[in-house]
Amino acid sequence: MTISFKDKVAIVTGAGGGLGREYALELARRGAKVVVNDLGGSRDGTGSSDAAAEVVAEIKAAGGEAMANGGSVTEYEQMEKMVADAKQKWGGVHILINNAGVLRDKSFAKMTPDDFEFVVKVHLTGSAFATKACWETFREQAYGRILMTASSTGLFGNFGQANYGAAKLGLAGLTKTLQLEGAKYNIKVNSLSPVAGTRMTEDLFPEEAFKLFSPENVAPAALYLVSEDAPSNQIVGAGAGGFHSAWVMMNDAVWLPEGQRTVEGFADAWDEINAMTNLKAPQSGSEQSGAILAAMQKVLGAD
Ligand code: NAD
Repeated sequence: MTISFKDKVAIVTGAGGGLGREYALELARRGAKVVVNDLGGSRDGTGSSDAAAEVVAEIKAAGGEAMANGGSVTEYEQMEKMVADAKQKWGGVHILINNAGVLRDKSFAKMTPDDFEFVVKVHLTGSAFATKACWETFREQAYGRILMTASSTGLFGNFGQANYGAAKLGLAGLTKTLQLEGAKYNIKVNSLSPVAGTRMTEDLFPEEAFKLFSPENVAPAALYLVSEDAPSNQIVGAGAGGFHSAWVMMNDAVWLPEGQRTVEGFADAWDEINAMTNLKAPQSGSEQSGAILAAMQKVLGAD
């Protein structure tokens, strides 16, 4: 089976280097027409360069089709223009990989409100803006594939990355609602949590690990998750050739009878409430209240 992206137009944000560049190259190799978006700034989001144009030149040299876009994901009008330019040139947009990102790591004690807001703005608001700019087109076409870039920091936490982690888990939350709203329009939305040796991680990995965690080892998951047969509502982890899924799960509700619904009653039941048993992964928020009602009925039925 060959997975092709022929006749598909894909936008990859932050594709001037690192993971985004690899996604753009691989999408183009497989026939997609690719918008390479990047404002070409440094790791903390300052400055600008021709990074996007350089990746476009690479794609063209290899016989692919691509256009550069220097817009910032934080500027909604620039995202709207990016989508309009792609549609004008190629007639549609089918795939969006929200990959642009910055880092401003500091312990929360030392993090300025500006550093918090800026990182959330680029990752979370930026992904929402790029997605919003594509959304109507995806609905009209009854076809859309969206990938959000989450992170282990968002899913599980990491010292010194409160801003980044908040944004990254926010993206998993955005995925979960958009996949519900997009389902009837054949819009599939997933999140990828990559681990890769890029400038974002260059001071974290020893040299050998840096090579092992190459962006090439993440691209297979990213491309599958925006392919025709992609699943939806998944959180996938990828790095160095290892791939896994992650879920937001919950256990069965513990029903506290009247009289025990007190702080002390809750404290007494805490170990049971917090037990990692009978875990399930609800597919929508209403399944959580449904599960609580089901627990109530079970108890009332048993009385
Ligand atoms: P990277 O710094 O090479 O790539 C990020 C790109 O986003 C840069 O080229 C940058 O210029 C661009 N960018 C920044 N702000 C932008 C803006 N406002 N508009 C458009 N482009 C902008 O780093 P990377 O490791 O390739 O990161 C790609 C994505 O993967 C990021 O979202 C990052 O948070 C995520 N991620 C990476 C790792 C990892 O191990 N490398 C782990 C978890 C998550």
